[in-house]
Amino acid sequence: MAKICVIGTGYVGLVTGTCLADMGNRVTCVDIVEAKIALLRQGTLPIYEPGLKELVERNVRAGRLHFTTSYSEGLDNGDFIFIAVNTPTGTSQGEADMSYVESAARNIARQLDHEAIIINKSTVPVGTGDFVTRIVRNHLAHADVNFAVVSNPEFLREGSAVQDFLHPDRVVLGSSDQQAARKVATLYLSLRTPLVITDLYTAEMIKYASNAFLATKISFINEIAQICERLGADVKEVAAGMGYDKRIGRAFLDAGLGYGGSCFPKDVRALAHMAAEAGLHPQMLHAVMEINQDQRRLIVAKLVELLGSLRGCTIGLLGLAFKPNTDDMREAPAIDIIRWVTSQGATVRAYDPVASETARQTLEREEIYLDTITFCQNAYDVADGVDALVIVTEWNEFNSLNMPEVRRLMRRPVLIDGRNIYKAEEMSRLGFTYRGIGRGNMGADVALLLATEQMNPSPLPQPERSVQTVRSHA
Ligand code: NAD
Repeated sequence: MAKICVIGTGYVGLVTGTCLADMGNRVTCVDIVEAKIALLRQGTLPIYEPGLKELVERNVRAGRLHFTTSYSEGLDNGDFIFIAVNTPTGTSQGEADMSYVESAARNIARQLDHEAIIINKSTVPVGTGDFVTRIVRNHLAHADVNFAVVSNPEFLREGSAVQDFLHPDRVVLGSSDQQAARKVATLYLSLRTPLVITDLYTAEMIKYASNAFLATKISFINEIAQICERLGADVKEVAAGMGYDKRIGRAFLDAGLGYGGSCFPKDVRALAHMAAEAGLHPQMLHAVMEINQDQRRLIVAKLVELLGSLRGCTIGLLGLAFKPNTDDMREAPAIDIIRWVTSQGATVRAYDPVASETARQTLEREEIYLDTITFCQNAYDVADGVDALVIVTEWNEFNSLNMPEVRRLMRRPVLIDGRNIYKAEEMSRLGFTYRGIGRGNMGADVALLLATEQMNPSPLPQPERSVQTVRSHA
């Protein structure tokens, strides 16, 4: 059993601390936000993450997991100190704001009175390991204390964070002190996962390169979607066809509203900034960001195309969080869509299964007038009297809605499927004016179904509309 301190009790810190406790360690989580720690001490989670509440309760009960706002209490004889604080975008230049990491490092230094390994779990620019080493050394209250710094970037995804932490594809560790990196590796041995042990800079870069690659896949398929829409192909079919190729893989090939959240947007920006600072011109990263922003604009363009002016219209939004199974609203496409449609004179009705409260707070912070938005109790409530419905987040419950009832409730039957969750033909049959993303060929759903049913021997039905027909309608 190791004694561990985790600094920062957000999505990454709380999951890391809780899972490490569940793996048999004694963990103290530290946060500067008193309200957050007070909630955790009462047994209430400040974030929504599937499976986390039960795990926190179990480990608190077992006496392995503690919460505090005090660094000295948190660091008390800890062998390993994880830094898991936020690293948001700083100024408009796109660089990561390192003030939280800097403050955490300074606070650690002031309290550290025994040998320990400081592990950076936050996503941080290349060179941050050295930066943290300098700060700690310069502020050590006990100058003779030995410490090492290890980079251990985190790859968990919100919505499946606990599973991801406990079943990672790999654990990356980087340090100029390989012995320290190997000590940290012992914490992960029970996970039986590949360990990549490398130098500090490489470990830090692995995280940025991974996120930038995934964001690139999303922007790539979104660009393909735009071409599909013009030429009469169906991007869902295209992605399925591409995805069978092992060199490509099916993951992250879902065309839609683009990426959002607390990681991809800021990490692509920060990597582009790092490259520019190094005198490079990261053209692809800029294209990835531009395409991503265009996907959000596209939704508003489709609304204008189908409704004419948005003035006086009511737009319904299904989903607000940047992706399903989270209440995280950071850089969620819903924010831009709400800003743009309300600035054109529309009002909004919106529903999200868990993110309505964080959405309300986020929109307030973004200075978007809340009196133009009605937060609804469910999807049917949203549909009531709207001129158009937009699927913003692909929550599971939106797959099983009574769509004839949704259609009946709407003032005008415009359905913009920002996540391609519905079958175009079916929605048209129900009387919706349906627009997905990159779905030029309305007959393609049938072929996709057969493909996923492992080579059904019956012949593929002919698409109802040929590519040529679709083109002539375009
Ligand atoms: P978060 O905003 O949810 O949590 C950060 C926490 O750190 C907050 O509770 C904040 O109060 C606390 N904090 C800030 N400064 C502090 C300080 N000096 N001392 C103690 N606590 C402090 O952020 P997050 O989503 O958990 O992300 C943390 C880091 O992990 C970021 O660098 C992020 O890029 C990276 N990351 C996030 C994810 C994700 O899915 N959220 C995945 C992988 C990596």
